[in-house]
Amino acid sequence: MNFVKIVGAGPGDPDLITVKGKKALEEAGIIIYAGSLVNPALLENAPKAKVYDSAGLNLDEVIEIIKEGYGEGKKIVRLHTGDPSIYGAIREQMDRLEELEIPYTVIPGVSSFAGAAAAIRQELVLPGVTQTIILTRMEGRTPVPEREKIQNLAKVNATMVIFLSIHMIEDLVRLLAEGYDMDTPVAVVYKATWPEEKKVIGTLADIADKVKAEQIGKTALVMVGRFLGNTYDLSKLYDKHFSHGYRRGSEK
Ligand code: SAH
Repeated sequence: MNFVKIVGAGPGDPDLITVKGKKALEEAGIIIYAGSLVNPALLENAPKAKVYDSAGLNLDEVIEIIKEGYGEGKKIVRLHTGDPSIYGAIREQMDRLEELEIPYTVIPGVSSFAGAAAAIRQELVLPGVTQTIILTRMEGRTPVPEREKIQNLAKVNATMVIFLSIHMIEDLVRLLAEGYDMDTPVAVVYKATWPEEKKVIGTLADIADKVKAEQIGKTALVMVGRFLGNTYDLSKLYDKHFSHGYRRGSEK
């Protein structure tokens, strides 16, 4: 059966698409991709495809292209940046495909938050520090429920990764400061895994100035929390005194 494939492109580096995603591109007759964020180098895997940039299209137009192409028996890839399930607006597309009885499948991708963590070579959760990652955004045109406002989430003092908000860095810092201490470390990663990647490391007190100095205004993640610090406990998983299902501790 011919499935429409909703594919995660990964964070930027064209080698960071999955093997399955790359195969889908190679076979595609039509690709609709988010031109503002997906690395166009990925399209080199798709010599046969007719390519549409979704930046200039509304939902109806995207669905129309899919419907028409599907009717002609073409293989269709809807290529989203990072992982499609995170701020990808795929639900509304999938619901329309359901209505049209067009079968589809989702191929996951490496989200930019994972790309950014790799870029700064950090583990996002550390024993004795936090065991929780909050992925969120500031309110923009899309509203954010009151209980999830940055200032409320900040009170948890977990690792927080903030998407879609770098252009509001000053407001963001002000809200984060309602929960985190001003000396909490912050990393901003611009275009993680792209050749033009930039990493800015600071604290809540100085990150806004540093980001401004680097003139970073879009395509960046803000990562906040003591996972960026140097204090943590060793894991139980590799503790030689600790037994688990796959390994018996050597000493007690
Ligand atoms: N589905 C995507 C997120 C789409 S929302 C994912 O899983 O990554 C778009 C936002 O993601 C951008 O505003 C930015 O905050 C972030 N983003 C996407 N690619 C990025 C990259 N390579 N480096 C840093 N941030 C990125």
